[in-house]
Amino acid sequence: MTERVVVLGRDFRGWAVGEYSGVGQYGPFSFRYYVTECCGADGKGVEHGVACRACYRPLPIEFGGEPGELETVFGDGISVERFRELVKA
Ligand SMILES: [Zn+2]
Repeated sequence: MTERVVVLGRDFRGWAVGEYSGVGQYGPFSFRYYVTECCGADGKGVEHGVACRACYRPLPIEFGGEPGELETVFGDGISVERFRELVKA
């Protein structure tokens, strides 16, 4: 089983969009989600909305929703580690 997580680009809000893909029991799958600038993590539903899964910083509620069309595209996607380096720079 191979799994891959990349950051594909940014949507119209400027939020980073990641893609998680792999091959599971029922064949290949992938889904998109928003990636936090602080930690390169995904959002998690909490008592009062949505927060970063890694540091629990509060996020806009839309962060927990479906990412929109990409406006800025990072080629074929960059690794989450590379994304973390870029946002720290
Ligand atoms: Zn965070």
